Amino acid sequence: MPALGATGPRTLLRRLREIMAEQISAQSRLDKLVMLIATNMVAEVCSIYLRRAGKYLELFATEGLNRAAVHKTRLKEGEGLVGLVAETGEAVNLSDAPSDPRFSYRPETGEDPYKSFLGVPIVRGGQVFGVLTVQNRAAVLYSEEEVEALQTVAMVLAEVVAQGGLFNIAELDEPELRADRPRMFKGDGLSEGVAVGRVVLHEPRVKVERMIADNPQEELKRLEDAIGKLRENVDEMLDSSELDLTGEGREVIEAYRLFAYDQGWRQRMRDAVRTGLTAEAGVERVQDEMRVRVQRFGDPVLRERAHDLDDLARRLLRHLSGDGSIAPGDLPNEAVIVARSMGPAELLDYGREKLLGLVLEDAAATSHVAIVARSMGLPLVSSVEGVSDSARAGDGIVVDGEAGEVHLRPMPEVVKTFEIKRALRANRVAHFAQIRDTAAVTKDGVHIKLMMNAGLLLDMAHMRESGADGVGLFRTELQFMIGETMPRLADQIEFYRDVLEAAGDKPVVFRTLDLGGDKVLPYARFEREANPALGWRAIRIALDRPALLRYQVRALIQAAKGRILNVLLPMISDVAEFNQARALIDRETERARLLQLPQPRQIRVGAMLEVPALAFMLPQIMRSADFVSIGSNDLFQFVFAVDRTNPRVSKRYDPLNPPALTLIRQIVHSASESPGDLSLCGEMAGKPLDAMALIGLGLRTLSMQPANIGPVKMMIQSLDLREVSQFVDRLCGRTDGSLRPRLAAFAAERGIAIK
Ligand code: PEP
Ligand code: MG
Repeated sequence: MPALGATGPRTLLRRLREIMAEQISAQSRLDKLVMLIATNMVAEVCSIYLRRAGKYLELFATEGLNRAAVHKTRLKEGEGLVGLVAETGEAVNLSDAPSDPRFSYRPETGEDPYKSFLGVPIVRGGQVFGVLTVQNRAAVLYSEEEVEALQTVAMVLAEVVAQGGLFNIAELDEPELRADRPRMFKGDGLSEGVAVGRVVLHEPRVKVERMIADNPQEELKRLEDAIGKLRENVDEMLDSSELDLTGEGREVIEAYRLFAYDQGWRQRMRDAVRTGLTAEAGVERVQDEMRVRVQRFGDPVLRERAHDLDDLARRLLRHLSGDGSIAPGDLPNEAVIVARSMGPAELLDYGREKLLGLVLEDAAATSHVAIVARSMGLPLVSSVEGVSDSARAGDGIVVDGEAGEVHLRPMPEVVKTFEIKRALRANRVAHFAQIRDTAAVTKDGVHIKLMMNAGLLLDMAHMRESGADGVGLFRTELQFMIGETMPRLADQIEFYRDVLEAAGDKPVVFRTLDLGGDKVLPYARFEREANPALGWRAIRIALDRPALLRYQVRALIQAAKGRILNVLLPMISDVAEFNQARALIDRETERARLLQLPQPRQIRVGAMLEVPALAFMLPQIMRSADFVSIGSNDLFQFVFAVDRTNPRVSKRYDPLNPPALTLIRQIVHSASESPGDLSLCGEMAGKPLDAMALIGLGLRTLSMQPANIGPVKMMIQSLDLREVSQFVDRLCGRTDGSLRPRLAAFAAERGIAIK
């Protein structure tokens, strides 16, 4: 029966370390390793398979199987039991492997006499890049300790392979594993512009220097101390008086605290350390296993939870090693942030000053981090798989937000090409500056109002340079998201006053807090929900917690002294909801009057049309509301049942599909019978071709990122509205998928500027 070697996993790890230190060839090192593991585990076979280019697993070393099969036996992704381990990222433990349907018999290996099989993934940074196996003739299941021990050995192996210490990394044709090769990644360009800079890793991995414990008892104590400090920190946050003030902040920290106090998490880390790892390596191993599970199941809720645990693990590692992450203030010049994912507030934390661009593995076009990146004028490429594992801090990097390309460690010629592209882009921007003060009027004389979207005071600087007619959507939640604590009434008044002052005599539409979904306050996260986009968000929170809305309205009323105050309510689903919020605004107006506080000259209250239900109540809502603004980002997320933040599905629909255009046409038609204004403020307003269709359907006010005003204005000035309207009207009845190609062909034929 297979049994753990009498010497135990710690001795095995120590010997492993000795082999690592020897000056021998890569192959000899691997050969020695498999022999050592086999002896220690009392296994008749021990083999190492590594992933190679073309996505197959190659036998790199074996003790017990036929040596001639080394570098010959190759298994495709998912093939055989080894493939199964690599695919699932989980251990496979079988007492009778050959009778398993997934067993793939390779005669050259001579493995038929071996019944029991244990395979564990070689994982690093959530990526499986090999499999370590042991086999025995006796048909017995390996014990839990044995599985655990082999996993620990695999982790040490992974680290050494990745760091190139085990063998010359160039022997592997696996691009992910080559640390210094130039690489080009293709992703989605979500914010235009070109950046040539240096990589800064967001949430950098705290580098674990020591993997194997010298004194395991001491490591356990270090782990316990670090967990203690982590908990203390979280408790301190919980006790802070600021959180007592807001109440809701407590919920966030409580949720976070639950994770920090999670006994299962602690136990898993303790178990890992008991196998002979250092405290740091134990934390990382547990985290790696969790990441593999998340990647495998792809569940967005699990993914979110994983972000929390990742965050906690990083804090724990920092407590252990004192190796702090880059604080936003320490950002080097010409920084390009590379991250798996990021929230909008985290991006704002970095500030605009030294930041040139952003590369993410996981963000969709209408996610809030993308919106913030556009509003900061930062080039952003997303859906760049594997970039955060390949990039090293300080690597050269080029980000092309138009083409959706990322060049990591680019050759000098590539850098030169992009510098030229950046200069050309600057020229184009200069051309838009020339038309800045001209009106957005079509060739047949129809005036279109072009407003800008904003969310921070720094956005207001774009008002002049873009030539916007005003702010059509001011996302007030951004201000709440960047602070450490909830802004007080006086701060809010000052902030809104500054915004209005910056706008001069142009109108500003303030949208009340649109929280929930992917917009969370760092100090007040709400309970996790299975479907946050359909959950407790925006106006729903405002009506359930009216104090939040009341204070905001109170601040807006005082700030807009003597002016017209435009208030826009997000995510309205029916007229009753709107009326309830409006009543609250009326009460606040009355209060200001009674207390003789400063008051606006007029208050106009609008509804965002983001929930499809409201489209069926347009005449009614327009009797209650002074204006309606279509939030196409959310509206089409619900119309097409496609999560706007999930890059896997967010591109499956196009707002230029016939049903989307037909819906807009109906909305415009229903609204035309009422006196209130109708506008659109989602991301599609800023794309010249989409904007052409929207204008063709009858919209006369569009609100977009300031950078898009120039291109959209150029498009408007080059079109004949009557022709466009007739064409778009005909398109609505078609049964194609996206109408984008037809609209683009039409624009090209008529010389309409859509670039
Ligand atoms: C929208 O949903 O279209 C919108 C403008 O709001 P946000 O993108 O902030 O959700
Ligand atoms: Mg919205």
